[in-house]
Amino acid sequence: MLTLITGGGGFIGSHLATYLFDETEDDILLLDDFSTGNPENVSHLIDHDRVELIQGDVIETGTIEPLVERSDRVFHLAAAVGVQRIVDEPLRSMRTNLVGTENVLEAAVDDRTPVFIASSSELYGKSEDVPFAESDDRVLGPTSSLRWSYASAKAIDESLALAYHRDHDLPVAIGRYFNIVGPRQTGQYGMVIPRFVEQALANEPLTVYGDGTQTRSFTHVADAVRATYELLTTPEAHGEVINIGAPDPTSINALAERIIELTGSDSDITHIPYEEAYNENFEEPQQREPDVSKLEATLGWYPSTDLDRILLDIIEEREQAVVPE
Ligand code: NAD
Repeated sequence: MLTLITGGGGFIGSHLATYLFDETEDDILLLDDFSTGNPENVSHLIDHDRVELIQGDVIETGTIEPLVERSDRVFHLAAAVGVQRIVDEPLRSMRTNLVGTENVLEAAVDDRTPVFIASSSELYGKSEDVPFAESDDRVLGPTSSLRWSYASAKAIDESLALAYHRDHDLPVAIGRYFNIVGPRQTGQYGMVIPRFVEQALANEPLTVYGDGTQTRSFTHVADAVRATYELLTTPEAHGEVINIGAPDPTSINALAERIIELTGSDSDITHIPYEEAYNENFEEPQQREPDVSKLEATLGWYPSTDLDRILLDIIEEREQAVVPE
């Protein structure tokens, strides 16, 4: 079995590669352009015969087509990710997230190669009707606010995948990730936990965007990759959109306080307006919480690693990175 992971040098992709390496006999192809990913993320795997790492772009059909055609299944995780990157490079981001996905689906048609599509809780937008179920309406802001281009592109990706499933009987599983976090995630692209942990370890103020009452549900990456793998290998999940997330929300203020406690930091918490953080007419959803009943009905479980365990895993990793041996 040859499995392709696009975005395999990224945060979730590298954990998924490790999971496949440990839990299956698969040979593993990793494609990444390293725009936000890093070969270091998979350095523990690439010396093994079962793993091949290729630098390339999912937008380039000459690159992606032959890789999909060689593969027996595909996890399509490559995307322009993170609010900061979407705002800074809107056109390149949209092309990656739209053209890249269509390329993967189109290349999978002939052999009806199963494809997992990584979607996002961003699709629910500003809806306040928590918890969010897959069949709920979406509430997005105007196109003039660039952050919504990511949600729009991911929505089209889902629609494309569902259309390929209907018209070509392509086995697709679509997972909507909710704030997946864990070791190897970079703070550089606007991910809140690694940013707070790095600030706390440096005894610098933790910068909360907005008033900090906004809530998020955080999901350990180990839970997310197991769900990802099981969804693609569960035929009942094909042609379905399924939330991948943990149901317990926390406010960003509470998150900052807990990180200060767990790191024993002297940091304070400061609040800055979104406009200052992102330099534009920015909107941030107030609440994010998944309804996990469809995931539980499909797989028989849902992610439940508690927040302290998640935070301690990330703190431990960052401490090792900053304290020389
Ligand atoms: P990530 O940035 O670490 O992973 C994305 C990877 O795709 C990176 O390695 C990047 O270099 C690569 N990439 C980007 N453009 C590419 C291109 N044109 N060609 C080839 N590779 C390219 O982020 P992640 O958190 O691991 O995200 C993985 C997937 O999960 C993405 O599709 C993202 O939209 C989705 N997602 C993640 C979260 C989360 O909480 N982490 C939430 C919702 C959705």
